[in-house]
Parts: sequence; C-alpha cells; structure tokens
Amino acid sequence: MRIAVAGFIDETMTFLPEPTTIAHFEPAVKRGPALLEANRGIPTYINGFLRVLEEAGAEVVPIVEVVKAPGPFTGWITYECFEKYATEIADRIAAAGPLDGVLLSLHGAMAVTGVPKPEAELCRRVRRAAGSIPLMATFDLHSNEDGELTDATDAVFVLKTYPHVDSQEIGEIAARCMVETIRGNLRPAQALRRPGLVSPSIFQGTDDHPMKTIYDRCREWERRPGVICVSVGTGFAYCDVPDIGMYVVAVTDNDAALAGKIATEVSDLCWSLRDDFARPLPKPPEAVAQVMALVADGRRPVVMADGADRIGDSTHVLRELLAQGARNWAIPDLYDGSVVNVLAKTARVGDLVTCTAGGWYGERSGRPVELAGTLEYLGRPEYVLIGPMEQGRRIKEGLVARLNLGDNRHVVISDRTRWAIDSSPLTVVGIDVGTLDIIVLKSRVHHRAYWDQVAEVNFPIDAPGHSEVVDLSELEYHNIPDDVYPIGRMWRNRTW
Ligand SMILES: [Zn+2]
Repeated sequence: MRIAVAGFIDETMTFLPEPTTIAHFEPAVKRGPALLEANRGIPTYINGFLRVLEEAGAEVVPIVEVVKAPGPFTGWITYECFEKYATEIADRIAAAGPLDGVLLSLHGAMAVTGVPKPEAELCRRVRRAAGSIPLMATFDLHSNEDGELTDATDAVFVLKTYPHVDSQEIGEIAARCMVETIRGNLRPAQALRRPGLVSPSIFQGTDDHPMKTIYDRCREWERRPGVICVSVGTGFAYCDVPDIGMYVVAVTDNDAALAGKIATEVSDLCWSLRDDFARPLPKPPEAVAQVMALVADGRRPVVMADGADRIGDSTHVLRELLAQGARNWAIPDLYDGSVVNVLAKTARVGDLVTCTAGGWYGERSGRPVELAGTLEYLGRPEYVLIGPMEQGRRIKEGLVARLNLGDNRHVVISDRTRWAIDSSPLTVVGIDVGTLDIIVLKSRVHHRAYWDQVAEVNFPIDAPGHSEVVDLSELEYHNIPDDVYPIGRMWRNRTW
C-alpha cells in the first residue's frame, strides 16, 4: 500500500494589505523526506498520518509540505504563488509512481487572487494527477469551504477542538479511513451543508456554547453505526471569499442519504444558534478598569485576550494599563523590530532605557507608547513549547528585549510576532509568572489550552486591530454572498 502525503497550509487574512508571495513560503517548504522529519513526534495532522500508515505497514510517499515561514503577517496569496505550489504538488504526485491513495494536510482558509476556492482547486488537480484512487484531506476548523471541496475529495475531516489540541488525532482518523478504504472495509460517502453563517473567532471556542452544543450533537451522531466522522468548520471571518463561513461535513460508510441527513440536521442546528455567536465585549478603557477591579477582589491572575492584534504592535491595552496605574502585569508580545534593534545596538542588560514602541503598523494599532525602564533581558531565546498545544515544538526566536517599568510591569519587545501560547515565552525572558496579576495576550482562544489552568479569569476584550476584530461590521467585504449572516448585504441593510 503506497500513500502519498502532501500539505498546503495557510490562514489568509485578506484585510492585511501586503500580498503573500513565494518568498513568504519558500524558506519553510519541506520536500520529500524533510516533510517527515519536520512532523515526526509533533502533534500535527501529518504525524497522525504517519503513525497510522506505518502501523498499517503502508509505504508513505512524502511529496511536499507548503507552510508559511515565520515572519510578518501578510494578506492575499498571489496567483503566481498558488500556481507554483499547486503545480508542484500535482506534478510530484503524478511522478510518484503507482499510488493507492493521497492524504492532504490542508487548512481551508487560503485566499488567492484569481482562485475563488483554492483548496477545492488543489484537490481537483491532485485528483487529475493521481487518477481514481482515494483522496482524503484534513482541515483546521477555521476554514471556509463548500460543496466544490466534497465533490473533489472522498472524505474530509475537520479539527474538533478550539484551542486546537487534536490535529494529530484528526490526522489519525483520516489515515485510518484511508487504510480501511483501500483494504475494501469502508466506502466513504460524504455530504456538505452550509448554514450561511459567519462569526468572530473569539466566540468559537469549543468548550463553550454555542460550539459545544453543536459539537456535542456531532459526537452523538458519530456514535451511530456507519457514521465515520461529523465535522463542523466554524469558518474564518477574516477572509473575504465567496465560500466564507460555517460548513458541516458528514462522512458515512456508503450511505449518502444518511450523510445528507446528518449534515442538514447539524447545519440547521448551527443556524438556529446564529445569534449566540456574538456579544459585545469591553473596549480597552473599561476592560482594564474591570480587570483591575477583579484583581483588587483577589481574582488573579487575569488573562486579557486582545484577539484583534494578530500583528502584535497594538498599544491600546498597554496605554490603558499605564494610564490607570495597574501593577504586576506583563505584555509578552509587543512586536517592534526597529525598537529592539536600536536597544541591541545601544544598551546592555541592566541599563535604564527609554524608547517609543508599538503602533507602527497602521492607524488601528494605536499610537506608539513611550516606555522607560530597566533592560532586564536582551537576546535570541530558544525553548520548547510545554503545551498542550504544539507541545514539544522547538522555537527559535529573533531579537527579544524585556523592559521592567517598575512595580513588576514588563513589556517584551521583539523583532517578529511572538505567540505566548503557554508560559515558556515569558519564563525564557525571566518573567516570574506567579507574581503577575494581569497577563495580556494577543490571542483569541488558543491560549486557553494552557492559560485556563493558570489564570483565575479569562477576559476577552474588543480592541481595535487590523485582523481578527470582534465586530465584523468594521470590515469591508467585497466577495462574500449577499445572504450570509450577519454580514452579507441582505442582513446588513435590514432596517428592523
Ligand atoms: Zn484554527
């Protein structure tokens, strides 16, 4: 049994102005055996594929894995870039010799100039290259897909957790389905339905209503004999594409009618909960005041989730913490390359320094903030994530500086976006997490996999930002369907 494994992953934020080009992917692209080495032992879809395929005695044929290299966040993927990698994946599959199946590790939220539904297009090309053998794919739940995808594949499997802690497990489910299909023990039949619903990421956590209610129903269906997997992609709202929004895929064993029935029922459930996917959150001034009141009540530490700042340069919360006199806090992820480079050239650890940091990307980041404090860390940290998300992944950062502003107030400034998905990015720069009252994270839900165990309160806020804002009416869409709720023209213009 020979199974080809390939990947093409991006979550494109089309509201960022800079296009995504080949140069943003190429340094991280893994070809042939390097693809296996990059994934083995790390909880990814591909590691899940490998575990099952190797146990089944299958020969894994590594093709190419296309992922973005660390760096600044960019917007629309250029047509040239998609063409290059889609062609490469298809050509290498065509040249791989006789295959019995193809497994693809995808994300589902690519946005490509001139290619309306990139993952479906990629799957069609792979199918043409591979011939009539099973083609199955894994997806992040932050994905935008429609029936073109299910037409182009035999089975689709979407993550079931946000924070995403089941990537490897979904890879294993897909690979098991592949192996049993090739052995003749399964005949996957799938159906996709779209409720026509878009929601902000920050309200899509799967431990909370409404997603928990929806996923509980999916898990009930999966207990029924003949049901292989029931998936709901929550959609990724920060992608201005024609198939934006939530979708349901049911995969059964050779029962198309049942797949259709399940997908329709779950899709109807999603639609019935449409108004539970948003609520107002406090803006930074009220948020900081409310958090300080919680701390004064002994409810500490509080994690403030500033989900709109994916870039990392936002100063709205920093400014309020300073203005309102909060103590014992850390912002571990202020992205400002020019400031940290000047500090590296002009200061040493222990020096008193001043700088004006953040607020460089655009108007919605807020104005730069003047900081004065002791430079307590300067370096290029390396560490291993402690999980549960991405547990074991080795991180090598660029230049990072930590300023202690006094009163146990810490701002960590870096030359690229940091991601404090667990405490290791704080401890590696010398912050004692146990002494903090407030930890500000530029995250929506992923941080909760770790930080909910540490924090007394998780406190999401509505700050301005350039990407994953809470209020979708702030974004100007051009490519979405008129009837998608609540941002399509039909709903926006209603007068009741
Ligand atoms: Zn995701």
